[in-house]
Amino acid sequence: MLQNSPCFTFNSQLAGLYIHIPFCLKKCSYCDFYSITDLSLQPVFLDALASEMIMTRELDKGFDTLYIGGGTPSVLNIKSIEIIIKTAYQCYNILSNAEITLEVNPGTVTLEQLKGYRKAGVNRINIGVQSFNSANLSFLERIHSARDAQMVVKWAQRAGYENIGLDLIYGIPGQTTSSWLKDLHSALEFHPQHLSCYMLSFEPGTPMHKDLQNRVFNPLPEHLVCEFFETTQSFLNANGYVQYETSNFAREVIDESGIKSAQSNISRHNVKYWNFSSYIGLGPSAHSFIEPQRFWNHSNVKKYVQELSTGRLPRAGKESLSREQLMIEAVYLGLRQTKGIVVDEFDKKFGVIFEVMHAETIADLEEKGLVKMSQNRCALTAKGMLYLDSIATMFI
Ligand code: SF4
Repeated sequence: MLQNSPCFTFNSQLAGLYIHIPFCLKKCSYCDFYSITDLSLQPVFLDALASEMIMTRELDKGFDTLYIGGGTPSVLNIKSIEIIIKTAYQCYNILSNAEITLEVNPGTVTLEQLKGYRKAGVNRINIGVQSFNSANLSFLERIHSARDAQMVVKWAQRAGYENIGLDLIYGIPGQTTSSWLKDLHSALEFHPQHLSCYMLSFEPGTPMHKDLQNRVFNPLPEHLVCEFFETTQSFLNANGYVQYETSNFAREVIDESGIKSAQSNISRHNVKYWNFSSYIGLGPSAHSFIEPQRFWNHSNVKKYVQELSTGRLPRAGKESLSREQLMIEAVYLGLRQTKGIVVDEFDKKFGVIFEVMHAETIADLEEKGLVKMSQNRCALTAKGMLYLDSIATMFI
């Protein structure tokens, strides 16, 4: 059981394990994830991470995903990744068919590294390509070139990975619909199993946000960014990718029973965040959720190491979500998935009748073509997805 956490009860679904590697070679200007560029702290961090795993050991509950993200996990050598995975297996009941993902930044890996990670147990690689266009990459202040990104995707395939995800960003100042389409075309040349297409956001506290405020560049008009989003949906759908969440697409394949499905290419781990599954996050800034509790670690490597070296868990905070908060979460998380809110599950969980509670809102949104009610689900239409945040607040 999780130590220091006597009141936690996992739900019946399988859980996920997330490990945050808080190092990057250089900070990208748009990024607000926690990471530092002082790589000399790696050894103490790795020792602290091992302690955190031992202290939070959980062998009763089954885990079917392990996601090593960051930061840039690929700044770690093969041996370090091997030790992390081995320790995770010793401390957690990770199932034999678990999805084990490693995030990779094209500026940091070699073919040998990718082969080594695979040998260490990684079976899914997520590559932060962001763009195949040099001007975009330099605007984002990425450390790699378009050629590096292409090379790493080829290396990942050569290393034998059969589950490869690529991350792309759109809405970059200067980008046109045709240059975004070119990026999508370039990505599809590799037939990746998974694509995440994120809209560039200007997060407060980032250098890019500061530049925006100082008018160093002009953001794209909103209508153009919306056009990119619609282009993404139609282009990827036409090319055999199923959108299962606002930003996530999985490639359809013919399964063993001869049926076309994208199920095997969906990121099993990320879906846990949207389905109220339990997940444990380890490492600086990592969040955990075991309904109704959420808790999170310090976003500071030194503080994280210091707490663990004195035998304390590196918790920065925790909260217990009320029934109302859980309901808001369920609406928001349900709507961002194309399957939508599963109405009878929602009703059962919260003791309400969703369709009665929101009858007027649903009717209004259906009339505007933003929401669709069918087969016990309330889901956003492709157009509705553009307004996810504002539609979600209408159900609250
Ligand atoms: S490599 Fe990834 S985590 Fe690191 S700064 Fe860039 S976007 Fe953020």
